[in-house]
Amino acid sequence: MSKIVNEVISANAEYVAGFGDKGNLPMPPGRQFAILTCMDARLDPAKYAGLAEGDAHVIRNAGGRASDDAIRSLVISYKLLGTKEWFVIHHTDCGMLTFNSEIMAELLSGSLKTASVDETGWHDSNAGGGTTDGKFIKWLTFTDNASSVVEDVVRIRSNSMVPSDIPIYGYIYDCKTGELVEVPEATAAGKAG
Ligand SMILES: [Zn+2]
Repeated sequence: MSKIVNEVISANAEYVAGFGDKGNLPMPPGRQFAILTCMDARLDPAKYAGLAEGDAHVIRNAGGRASDDAIRSLVISYKLLGTKEWFVIHHTDCGMLTFNSEIMAELLSGSLKTASVDETGWHDSNAGGGTTDGKFIKWLTFTDNASSVVEDVVRIRSNSMVPSDIPIYGYIYDCKTGELVEVPEATAAGKAG
């Protein structure tokens, strides 16, 4: 077995040993809110937002973007599971600031190996075996953190399946301090109507 699988299975055994009565938790999030945030490994929403099991929905993808699939989850979150307030939380030093769709397509066309990055940008090994399929995907990168939060809040707010009484708050998590810093323009755009 891989080292990582061993570590995960052994950590899980410890978790199971202390699981207590969490098996009785109901499916709807007890604190009735949802967070859309980035998959970045430095972000732990349970810790930065004080969540316990059963508290809230956390939807994660690269960038914490309001993709069609993120909106799908948010709609299920309120329509079937009763959430009443939503957060969009991007973060400083996000990887999505370091490339764009053209660069990603180019890297994938070079090879399927992990690319490397330096001060001049991303580089592929160009080892061959790449694909042009990356050209057909919108990678949802961004160039400015605050504007991307506003953009995502606006996109969610203006979706016909999102009721006007759900407030959507916009924040940026500071990777250097752990602080959530509000993006006032985003929160204003996400105000409940
Ligand atoms: Zn990120």
